[in-house]
Amino acid sequence: MTSMTPMMRQYLEIKSQYSDAILFFRLGDFYEMFLDDAVTASRVLDITLTCRNKGASEEIPLCGIPFHSSQPYIAKLVENGYKVAICEQVEDPRAAKGIVKREVVRVVTPGLVVDTDTLQPKENNYLMALCPGEGRWGIAVLDITTGEFRVTETADREGLASELTAFNPREVLLPGDDGGRALEKWLGHHLAGRMVNPLPDWVFELDRAEGQLLGFFGCSSLEGFGCAHLPGAIRAAGAVLHYLEETQKGTVTHIRALSTYHAQDFMVLDEATRRNLELTAALQGGRRGSLLGVLDRTVTAMGGRKLRKWINAPLLDVERIRSRHQAVAELVEKSLIREDLRRALDGVYDLERLNAKISMATANAKDLVALRSSLERLPGVLELLGSLASPLLGELQADVDPLEDVCEAVSRAIVDDPPFVLREGGLIRDGYDAELDELRSISREGKGFIARLESQERERTGIGSLKVRFNKVFGYYIEVTKTQLTRVPEDYQRKQTLANAERFITPSLKEYEEKVLGAEDRIVQIEYDLFQQLRQQVALQGGRIQESADRLASLDVLLALAEIAHERNYVAPQMDESGDLVIEEGRHPVIEAMSLSERFVPNDLVMDTRENQLLIITGPNMAGKSTFMRQVALVVLMAQMGSLVPARSARIGIVDRIFTRVGASDNLARGQSTFMVEMTEAANILNHATPRSLIVLDEIGRGTSTFDGISIAWSVAEYLHDNPQVAAKTLFATHYHELTDLAVTRERVKNYNIAVKEWNEQIIFLRKIVKGGASHSYGIQVARLAGLPKAVIERAREVLKNLESGEYETQGQPRLARGKQGGRAKVAPQMSLFDSSPDLLRQRLDEVDVSVLTPLEALNLLDQLKKLV
Ligand code: ADP
Ligand code: MG
Repeated sequence: MTSMTPMMRQYLEIKSQYSDAILFFRLGDFYEMFLDDAVTASRVLDITLTCRNKGASEEIPLCGIPFHSSQPYIAKLVENGYKVAICEQVEDPRAAKGIVKREVVRVVTPGLVVDTDTLQPKENNYLMALCPGEGRWGIAVLDITTGEFRVTETADREGLASELTAFNPREVLLPGDDGGRALEKWLGHHLAGRMVNPLPDWVFELDRAEGQLLGFFGCSSLEGFGCAHLPGAIRAAGAVLHYLEETQKGTVTHIRALSTYHAQDFMVLDEATRRNLELTAALQGGRRGSLLGVLDRTVTAMGGRKLRKWINAPLLDVERIRSRHQAVAELVEKSLIREDLRRALDGVYDLERLNAKISMATANAKDLVALRSSLERLPGVLELLGSLASPLLGELQADVDPLEDVCEAVSRAIVDDPPFVLREGGLIRDGYDAELDELRSISREGKGFIARLESQERERTGIGSLKVRFNKVFGYYIEVTKTQLTRVPEDYQRKQTLANAERFITPSLKEYEEKVLGAEDRIVQIEYDLFQQLRQQVALQGGRIQESADRLASLDVLLALAEIAHERNYVAPQMDESGDLVIEEGRHPVIEAMSLSERFVPNDLVMDTRENQLLIITGPNMAGKSTFMRQVALVVLMAQMGSLVPARSARIGIVDRIFTRVGASDNLARGQSTFMVEMTEAANILNHATPRSLIVLDEIGRGTSTFDGISIAWSVAEYLHDNPQVAAKTLFATHYHELTDLAVTRERVKNYNIAVKEWNEQIIFLRKIVKGGASHSYGIQVARLAGLPKAVIERAREVLKNLESGEYETQGQPRLARGKQGGRAKVAPQMSLFDSSPDLLRQRLDEVDVSVLTPLEALNLLDQLKKLV
């Protein structure tokens, strides 16, 4: 340390407090990085690594970026999972005695990005804190770019996983005196791709967290937030605030409240179900091919984010669902109003994020203009809403505050097209501030005088090439070329000599210059002050802006749902508590929208808890089983999120949870065997399903040997049927034909198959679901379609014939239906499906003519038969 420059010492001291971040150390117009930070940053950012003290014994690696274009570099580091601590010079270098004072003013982390330009507009960027408590987990999520701050509690790992998938936070805070390792291990792949920050355990202490929350919101109790009785939630929220304080040194007044939500108010969707149903992302990644991708006709960023939330949290309350349907249906019907509303909203910028920027004092004049032009749309929106009848739209209309005062204040102050920078003037309108106006006129007059001076002086001196110019060093000056120097008058004072010209000033030129420059300095300062005052004034109205933004987001979602409903002919489903599901001519919303080659074939469905609880769906590969089952799940989910549905008609009894499991899905990347994953997921279903749940099982059991697979599939189905507390409506697709036998012994099991037509040994997919089990699986025909060699196909037919001959046992009872309780016939245990000895015995006995047998022959025969057995 002793041999170091004072600046390096200052650097190391600050760096020691931010050891987990890359320190951007402000040096004049650059941010410099040193040592390991420099090595990392130069690699990630692909910038040149240089060296301080080159050649000396203590070389210091170094790299830097210009501060005025630092945003993309910061964004890239954060994108790559680093934190960036921004260290600024906090005093004027000219005024500093010794080394300039420097401080970290902000730490940018993946979960706390405030530079919204680098974020997806239609996605929230969440920071989540998790806190284990007595039997329950506390969860808190914050989006600093909108001010949304929510808490909840959940009972188990499934609940945690579900929230993690729904919010998809970029960064997670955990208690971690052990470095968070135990929790990280336990949560496994649910944390993959997120920055995980273990914080000291004391950060999560209840008293501390509660005190911090009360202090932050300036209230005396947490009752108002609905979480006073949820210690886990309070502890998690406290950790978020602690982290916020550590990283954001400025104001965050747009975080106005904490809102508590309860998972039981919404349809429960576990992690695997969200993924399998491709709600917000397709299995192969990206929005395209997801439900969100199809439904998203929103025109604002806020609406886009809200639609994602609605998809992730379908409702359970019949009345609330109906009121959304009613609103959407009205907007479908009144298409002119719908179009006008969408056009009006199209001009509304991201009010939530603008508001956050205004509160955090990072908004520039362009942002205020964006706010203004958005608010200018509101009276029109409100008027259009006034002509609609549905109660929900009426409520929205009542709750949207047109914020005329804010709009007016901005529009009075800020010019229509202000510059990005705040410190060069040009922001404030004429007529807004008397002092500013006066200074401007002085500046204008001075400039006018100077402009006139050139022609005056040319005339006075007779120097035709005389010029009046300005530069930063000398200010205004008069330039005369060398050849004309003899004509220069007495009162010119020489300032500078160039190669072929000289520069002069005159007292009156300087007098005006002072006026102009003095005025301009003041102008810039006054404009900046006025702007800041206005920004603060608007920030005080942040609560109103947030509320209106939220209502406009809902309106945008309802309009989007109406738009897609209109485009794709959706209908309003009838909602009730019956537990029935009746869908007439239902379609898969995504496949019907995406498939170009094949017209989508609609299908009907009837399910209930009385006769049609468990539907076994068979049919060859590629027939459409998976599509049909997902379509049913999606129709239910869409209905409960408030959307109309792709069907001719639908009657939907509220579903409390949807489960979907797909056999042998590719989870190899997670290091678990596929079969293990399948079975864990199946266990989760059997433990959590209720008679109001909807279960979609797509070829489970596929991940193991055939006999194991059939046995497990069979017993899972029986369990779902036989246990009244589970008894969920279940769609069960299987290629194990044997399962169709369940319908023989179980009364609420029904067989369906997806029809195919055989034609010239080929199959044609009809895509129609019909009653009954499939006659056979057509696997060989499908193999043929796939182009397997002819010889292989022929041999497969032979083998199949052999196998099929053993399907029913002698009593006509399907083999697999037998068991200790369930089976009707009492028969001796079967040895194996391939056991053929009874037939050989019979064959041998048939051949015997007893009337010609000698006693010795009879004895030998008996011996032979015994051996056969
Ligand atoms: P399975 O699960 O029976 O193997 P899938 O559900 O995966 O079959 O469907 C196979 C293909 O058939 C899908 O790619 C889909 O595009 C198409 N398909 C499925 N159902 C329909 C339908 N009702 N109308 C039109 N095409 C369909
Ligand atoms: Mg399938």
